[in-house]
Formats: sequence, structure tokens, C-alpha cells
Amino acid sequence: MSTDIDITPLLEWLSDGRKPLIIAGPCSAETEEQVLRTAHEVAKIPQVQVFRSGIWKPRTRPGDFEGVGAEGLRWLQKVKEETGLKVTVEVAHPKHVEEALKHGIDILWLGARTVANPFSVQEIAEAIKGCDIPVMVKNPVSPDLKLWIGAVERIHSAGVRKLIAIHRGFHYFKRSPFRNAPMWEIPIELKRLAPSLPIITDPSHICGKRELISTIAQKALDFEMDGLMIETHVNPEKALTDAAQQLPPDELKKMLDSFVIRDKRVDVEFFDTLEELRTEIDKLDGELLQILANRLKIIDEIGEFKKENSITILQMKRWAGIVKDRLAQGTHLGLRKDFLKELLALIHKESIQRQSDIFNDPDIKG
Ligand code: PEP
Ligand code: MN
Repeated sequence: MSTDIDITPLLEWLSDGRKPLIIAGPCSAETEEQVLRTAHEVAKIPQVQVFRSGIWKPRTRPGDFEGVGAEGLRWLQKVKEETGLKVTVEVAHPKHVEEALKHGIDILWLGARTVANPFSVQEIAEAIKGCDIPVMVKNPVSPDLKLWIGAVERIHSAGVRKLIAIHRGFHYFKRSPFRNAPMWEIPIELKRLAPSLPIITDPSHICGKRELISTIAQKALDFEMDGLMIETHVNPEKALTDAAQQLPPDELKKMLDSFVIRDKRVDVEFFDTLEELRTEIDKLDGELLQILANRLKIIDEIGEFKKENSITILQMKRWAGIVKDRLAQGTHLGLRKDFLKELLALIHKESIQRQSDIFNDPDIKG
């Protein structure tokens, strides 16, 4: 998506002028009573516009609760009639799309596991073709922006213009306080590539535990995300899925009331200060790039020297010494150790690449 795709603005088809868009409801529909009680509670919260619930649940292992299936769609119809909220469910298969449409579901969403598989996304796109149904596309499990964009494009190619992307965090191999690392740079890059595509954040699946949700939700609003999807259950501790991350409706209300919605417009003085700081950043980035270019030029010279003198490219002892020294210097300057390690590794990789190019280039004398 190098150029922006045409998308119907959210305010034209969903919100009655209210922003951010708030979607709430249980991870899974369990019983008619649980669904309706939760729906009536969340319907009392003025910010909530859409009720969510999983009917078909993608579970890691067979035998876990896999959702109530199509029966739950009737409960959602009741939610619509009794509360006036719009309703949304996850679809993972063309059959799910067909059932959901038959039951008047207002919005469909594709889950993280489905989006990871272009075959499934394509099948769903074909089932949706010709129906004017809004679709939300979660990010795939792995931090792969192209895969996310690919799924949005497939649904868009099916004629869907009422589209929303959902940022639900990414699988991350390192230890982290989150169930799925937020990696904000990915949804922000999506925003840059497709400015008209609304993006909402699902802090429940990012956090994995209730206590962290409000901080991540506030952060999403500070990053100008267009809304939030928050798992809500009348009795979270007893929930059959994702018990640790669901909020009871009263806590959801407290949290929504506590959000600071920062103004995008800023006064002139603030803007001047921001511009000054940004100019400074531009200047420093220029210097940083020049320094990197100078460093790599010297690396090339060393490469040629090594080639002339038949010395191997990789001098492990020297590199280990550099890492130790630069980590000490950098942390002393207040830079994070993890960041420094990644930065040094990247510079080293590029240096080795350039020197091996020199070794392989027959035109270079020596
Ligand atoms: C869900 O929203 O309940 C769900 C299964 O989410 P995800 O696809 O993000 O894991
Ligand atoms: Mn869930």
C-alpha cells in the first residue's frame, strides 16, 4: 500500500460523531444470560457503540472451549434488539460469514491467526464479495506489516470500503510484561502508508492482564488511534476464555471516564516550540547519517587494507572489545543497553557486508 486506498470514513457509517470508537463485550459468548447481562451493562456506558463477542474461538489446543457456535448469533440478535448496540463477531471461514450475515451481524472481524494465513483471508474475502458489510482486520500474530496490509488489501479487493484495522499486539520471543508486545511502530507505519484507514487498538490482547489495560489504552489514544476494543465480562474470573484480561463493566466505565483525550490542535507557542525541536532533530539526523557514512568509508579502507595483506575480515577479538567499550560509553550517556546492542549489531553487520563485497570484487586492486 504505497499509496492510500479509498476507505469510507468511520464517522460516515458508524459513530454518531463520537470518537474514539469503543467496542466492548466478552472474549467469548458462553451463555445467553452472560451475553445479555454483559450487553445491558455495557450499553449503559455512553462511550460504548459496538458489542463484541467471539462465537467461534480459535484455540491453541483442541478440547479447550471452542465457542458456542451459530447458536450465539441469536443471542447477539437479541443484544441488538434490546440495547440498540451494533454487534460484531470474529469470522474465520466462509461458512461463518454466511451464518453471520444471515443473523444480521453488523460488523465482521478477522482474528490474528486467520490474518496470518492468506489462503483463509482470500476465502473469506470471496465470501464477503458483494455484501456491504464492514470488516475489521486484526494484525497477524507475527510482527509482519506486509501480511497485515495484504489481508486489508484482499478484503478491500472484495469491494469492502468500510474497513478498520485492529492493533492487538505481536508475538515476541523475548520476555515482556505483555501477552503480545504492542510494537507501536508497526501500526504507526500502517497509519503513514494508509492515512484514511482507521486503526483501533485492542489493549486486552496486548496486555493479557487487567492491570495493564488502562495504560496501554491511554497510550493508544495518545498515538491518535481511532478507538479501542476492550474485552468485558460480567464475571471475568469465571470466564471460559481470557479470564485474566477481561474487565467487569463497572471497571470499564471507570477507565473510559478517566481517559485524557488530548487535543490534536495546539496553540501557536506550543507549535513553535515543537517546530524548533523538530528542526533540531532534523539537523542531528543529518549529522548522524554523515558520521555513519564517514565510519563506513573507513571500514572500506580497512577492508582494502585487509585484502591487500591477506587478513581475514572478521577479527572477533577486536569486535568483542568494541562492543564492551561502546556499551560502557553508551550506557554512561543514558542509552539503553538493549538498544545499543541492536545498534552495534546492525553497524557490524553492514561493515562485514561491505568488507566482503570488497573481498569479492575483482576490480579492487590488491
Ligand atoms: C479475540 O478477540 O477474542 C481473539 C481471539 O483475538 P486475537 O485474534 O487477537 O487473538
Ligand atoms: Mn480473547
